[in-house]
Amino acid sequence: MEIAVISGKGGTGKSCFSAAFATLKHKVVLADCDVDAANLFILFNPEIIEEKIYISGQKAIINQSKCTRCGICIDYCRFDAISYKEYQVVINETSCDGCKLCTRICPSMAIDLINSDKSKMFSGNFRNGKMVYGRLAPGEENSGKLVSLVREKAREIAKANHLDTIIIDGPPGIGCSVISSLTGVNHAVIISEPSLSGLSDLKRTLEIVSKFNIKTWVIINKYDLNKDVANDIFNYCHDNNIILVGKIPFSSDIVTAMVHCQSIIEYAPYSNIALEIERIYNMIIDEQ
Ligand code: SF4
Ligand code: SF4
Repeated sequence: MEIAVISGKGGTGKSCFSAAFATLKHKVVLADCDVDAANLFILFNPEIIEEKIYISGQKAIINQSKCTRCGICIDYCRFDAISYKEYQVVINETSCDGCKLCTRICPSMAIDLINSDKSKMFSGNFRNGKMVYGRLAPGEENSGKLVSLVREKAREIAKANHLDTIIIDGPPGIGCSVISSLTGVNHAVIISEPSLSGLSDLKRTLEIVSKFNIKTWVIINKYDLNKDVANDIFNYCHDNNIILVGKIPFSSDIVTAMVHCQSIIEYAPYSNIALEIERIYNMIIDEQ
């Protein structure tokens, strides 16, 4: 069974829920698919067994011994990645899209493309099972493909170790990496927050999830910070036949748990919040 924990935007507490689900009872495979900002490895400090370079694309580089500084490539680059710097023509690798145009128009054949190889995928052991995560280097692209690789690896590990649950910490938003995180999962758990933008993000996320045939659950995190909007979310879910599986109050314990590199389940296992998250999780996994 694969459970994807997602949210319409960052900062809703999505990773706190993924971490909590991953530390409840039985051993799991935890796949951190938030490849632009993976953070669960900080919390769980996994023992890395395998580290793989992920080629996310290509970048242009200039051979300075061939470059005549004619500036033609500067004019042609649509991404403004090329500029003069200290009497040289240089390429900003973060801005370069790897479109190859400059390699074709350079009269001196001074530009080549090289693989972007700073992104990586890691896998190993964490204290409640196995863990896989990807880290996309700043400026590198194809996050959706890296998410697919992380999920593929998670499935391979689950099969090899007879683990039947994969918890996916998905990326925030509604981009292609979210779609890669959702494809083929059994359950999508959407973490929402009680604000007007939170409600609007929830609607957009539900629109994406509705394109898949996935059992969908909504949790309102920190619902007591704005009970009126929390009520609007409740009504929206009710009117659209979406299961609002639980609402969690604000608690500084969740923050303190994170500071101690623990999930709330590990930090305060008998707290009301931990027990409520456990109830929610049991309800989800009981619904096959
Ligand atoms: S087009 Fe080629 S020779 Fe001209 S500035 Fe660019 S890299 Fe240098
Ligand atoms: S490959 Fe494309 S984006 Fe990159 S520097 Fe050349 S023209 Fe610009």
